[in-house]
Amino acid sequence: PVTVSGLTKRFGDRTVLNGLELTIERGEFVALLGRSGSGKSTLLRVLAGLDDDIEGTAEVEGTVSVAFQQPRLLPWRRVWRNVVLGLRRDGASRANDRALAERALGEVRLADHADDWPLTLSGGEAQRVSLARALVREPDLLLLDEPFGALDALTRIAMHGLVEDLWRRHEPAVLLVTHDVDEALLLADRILVLGEGRIVSEHVLGLPRPRALTDHVEVRARVLE
Ligand code: ATP
Ligand code: MG
Repeated sequence: PVTVSGLTKRFGDRTVLNGLELTIERGEFVALLGRSGSGKSTLLRVLAGLDDDIEGTAEVEGTVSVAFQQPRLLPWRRVWRNVVLGLRRDGASRANDRALAERALGEVRLADHADDWPLTLSGGEAQRVSLARALVREPDLLLLDEPFGALDALTRIAMHGLVEDLWRRHEPAVLLVTHDVDEALLLADRILVLGEGRIVSEHVLGLPRPRALTDHVEVRARVLE
């Protein structure tokens, strides 16, 4: 679903992406690593169609969902209504929206928070609402920008399982931005490292998933180089 060619993105005289090439196949799970400020979120914004002031091309097929680095929940809508926003941008409610929202919230372990106001949620809870909002559409392409950063270790493991399950059910293409090499090794088919505005290294892991981290000690070392 993703074909990016010669993608260059500048902010004033700062070039953040510089001739980037990237292809993601249907159903492929790709992890994107790179230093803070290397342009990962910028790339996701371009793929999500939120920034078209670019050089080169960025083609995306099918429906796309994004879970942003900072969960952007509408404070004046209850949690379940925020989840429904993932279904249609106007937020207009339909008969089974409540049920769909509840199911998605159940998956991210927030069944009890459907009627909460976003501002009363903890950081990790807000992140999971954002994830539920992204999942509820069953997208062809799922863009996840450090979606597990604010979670405790146990909840993070549960969310890994959730993303893995989702992938099994719908086989969306996934682009997961993370700073956690082990998370990338655990979940992805392919690990990409962004640097100098381009993909500077690529590591193919292949199936099966989830896998034992100990199988990939060498890849781990290469990614960290
Ligand atoms: P992190 O890991 O910290 O989230 P990142 O790889 O996601 O970093 P980006 O958010 O893509 O990094 O930012 C890349 C660079 O582009 C940064 O130097 C940032 O300051 C700059 N940048 C991003 N958005 C804008 C903007 N709207 N205007 C000016 N500069 C921007
Ligand atoms: Mg970022």
